[in-house]
Amino acid sequence: DKVYGIDRWGKGLITVSADGEIALRDPTKASSKAVSLPGILNNLEQRGIATPILLRVNSFLGNEIRHINESFNEAINKTGYQAPYRGVFPIKVNQQADVIDRIVEFGRPYDFGLEAGSKPELVIALAQRLAKDALIICNGVKDAEFVRLAILSRRLGFNTVIVLESPKEAETVVQVTRELGIEPLLGVRVKLTNKIGGKWQESSGDRSTFGMNTDQLLHVVDRLKEEDLLHCLKLQHSHLGSQIPDIIDVRRAAAEACRYFVELTREGADLTHLDLGGGLGVDYTGEKRANENSINYTVEEYCSNLVETVAYALDEAKVDHPILVTESGRAVVATSAMLLFDVLESTLYDHPEAPEPQPDDNHLVSDLAAISGYLVPDRLQECWNDATFYRDELRALFRRGQVNLRQMARAEQIYLSLIARIKEMVATLDDVSELEEQLEQVADVYHCNFSVFQSLPDVWAIDQIHPVAPLQMLNVPPDRRAILSDITCDSDGKLDRFILADGLSPSLPVHSLPKDQPYYLGAFFIGAYQETLGDLHNLFGDTNAVTIDLRDDGGFDLLHEQEGDTIAEVLSYVEYDPSDCVAAFRKMVDEAISDGSVETSERKTLMGAYRDSINGYTYYE
Ligand code: PLP
Repeated sequence: DKVYGIDRWGKGLITVSADGEIALRDPTKASSKAVSLPGILNNLEQRGIATPILLRVNSFLGNEIRHINESFNEAINKTGYQAPYRGVFPIKVNQQADVIDRIVEFGRPYDFGLEAGSKPELVIALAQRLAKDALIICNGVKDAEFVRLAILSRRLGFNTVIVLESPKEAETVVQVTRELGIEPLLGVRVKLTNKIGGKWQESSGDRSTFGMNTDQLLHVVDRLKEEDLLHCLKLQHSHLGSQIPDIIDVRRAAAEACRYFVELTREGADLTHLDLGGGLGVDYTGEKRANENSINYTVEEYCSNLVETVAYALDEAKVDHPILVTESGRAVVATSAMLLFDVLESTLYDHPEAPEPQPDDNHLVSDLAAISGYLVPDRLQECWNDATFYRDELRALFRRGQVNLRQMARAEQIYLSLIARIKEMVATLDDVSELEEQLEQVADVYHCNFSVFQSLPDVWAIDQIHPVAPLQMLNVPPDRRAILSDITCDSDGKLDRFILADGLSPSLPVHSLPKDQPYYLGAFFIGAYQETLGDLHNLFGDTNAVTIDLRDDGGFDLLHEQEGDTIAEVLSYVEYDPSDCVAAFRKMVDEAISDGSVETSERKTLMGAYRDSINGYTYYE
């Protein structure tokens, strides 16, 4: 753990046991025993659930929902705020049925609701038995069908709020309201001018693509007034962007939102709810700093800053405190899921022994071999420079046909044997950070059984960092450094930025692969956005997914299992009919039998192999 900094980023959820295994703990239960993650994996493997596995930990999800709601309640009590908090979970952050069901269940005591950003998400929300006072907030672009369903749902007692994103949408709402004769609950989305830092800067400020400017807002207010619907306008919404790194930005934006709230109230709107959107961040790296992968505040600070800011601004304007709404998605689900995968093989960037240069070798090969004569700790940088120079010169000669394949292989082996000795010496020295950085170019490659594009798409798309660590042998010092390459045939399919105890690193310290047992790694805090944003690159489909509860006695309960996509399923996503594929293959086999190139007895084997594949897992088995 000294190497990986798990105590810093693990948040007490991901810990290391005395025998060097990653263990999961429910930090809200002081007496609970940590549950060994390799133990969970063994159990799942015995049940026939193979890696890669997406593991969802129900206990972690429940804790986050309680934590956010209770932190708001505490801030409200402490500040003397005069209205309750009523959060909603944005379905887009994780739409999986098993996840939404559990969020609804954990959220019921807190009147926790859902946010729908599209028609399919509204359809999901309206299939849930929410608490009586829970909200359904409808954001996003809405057509008449969307608006009709949202208004009609009021008849079943749903508190469905249609957040108007534009004057055009207001016209649709006016029309559908008249048609149905049912009063809607309305909101308006305001575009705040404050800009936030971090990866989602573009979601904030003047040029953000959502929300109405002052002119559009007034137009909508006037239109609702004209139609005698202004009394239906109950909620003001704004969203700053996700993963806000700096709490000061949260405060500033909340204060600006309050100015709109006061002004809209003065315009005659009977606003009762202030919705401050998402943005509550996750400290992925555990640094507690305002940067792209970390945040400089806690959940408690986020809640108290919002409550205090709103209370202060509205007291000053003598406006009643509204019900506070936030739409935290990432902070609710990120920590509750992890991807567990095995290493298939390694490409090692070193060689145990240097072969002797041969008489027909270019003299540069002897120069390369001679480096071992002055390879001492004081001259490591010089040796690295010389070795890399000679190797590159020899590569240039190979490209020009002046060095043959055997000579080049010999030169590469000499080079890699020097690298092995340099790596060994560097590990024993202090203050060689520049050389360490250069050695990253010759880190090993561990080939792993997962797809970045399917399971960790934000790593590829926006350089998101998720903590990654081996699941076992954490009581043995790692003896190698590697980048992790995935199973797709894409050079972008790799992990090469890791959070370690001493900061970010382009390689991960790992152990030499054990000969007789698998070596497992985990990528943590992947519950937000990754599942749905993941794509089918190379047709690697959904992984196996399981949901567990941690028991106090160090065991776990398996709550839900979802088998990953079969090859037939992913083929159907790209418009193949798997039975047509089988029929086409069968036809070719039969033709081959007819023309005598294949024996009739081979038919069973050929068809069996095709059928086994089409019904199998898309990952390495
Ligand atoms: N609300 C809206 C309107 C959003 O667009 C988003 C995501 O960007 C969220 C809520 C969730 O944000 P977060 O996951 O940062 O809490």
